[in-house]
Amino acid sequence: MSEKSNVCQSCGMPLLKGEDFGTEENGSTSSIYCTYCYQQGSFTDKNASFEGIAEHGAQIMSQMFSMPIEKARTFVIDHIKTLYRWSGRIAPSCQSCGMALFSDTDAGTEHDGTLSSLYCTYCYQNGEFTEPDLTHDTMIKKYAPILANQLEVPSDKAEEMVRVFTSGLSRWKK
Ligand SMILES: [Zn+2]
Ligand SMILES: [Zn+2]
Repeated sequence: MSEKSNVCQSCGMPLLKGEDFGTEENGSTSSIYCTYCYQQGSFTDKNASFEGIAEHGAQIMSQMFSMPIEKARTFVIDHIKTLYRWSGRIAPSCQSCGMALFSDTDAGTEHDGTLSSLYCTYCYQNGEFTEPDLTHDTMIKKYAPILANQLEVPSDKAEEMVRVFTSGLSRWKK
């Protein structure tokens, strides 16, 4: 697999820095799993269930972003069920907003009408960004209140969350 994933395909943790990634049997870096889930080519907890990983992820999210635990559970379950370890395939994420492109209706369109493999339908239409002047900061300001409202987190935590989940995306990578 040559493409690096921007989130761990087991637990959904954002993979931002080199040390966030797990390792393969030969010591090279895993391109899709985090260091907590995956070491030397195998899962650290081979018997981990979806529910177990979801609960663990929910605890972390709840602590990191001051999110009510029930909200964190729903968020984490929705997020990690699309990941490779659980769905058997890597759903690409929109490289602008981070939304999983799980079905064709999620994908944006190119000039010739074909589906974009990089961007979602909200961000990208007919080969162009729907909001071409959007910067990473304005995008964070735009999505954070929606997230804050949905997940009942304080607005500064919501901004941090959007930043963490989107800073690895190619539209915003410096
Ligand atoms: Zn992980
Ligand atoms: Zn998008």
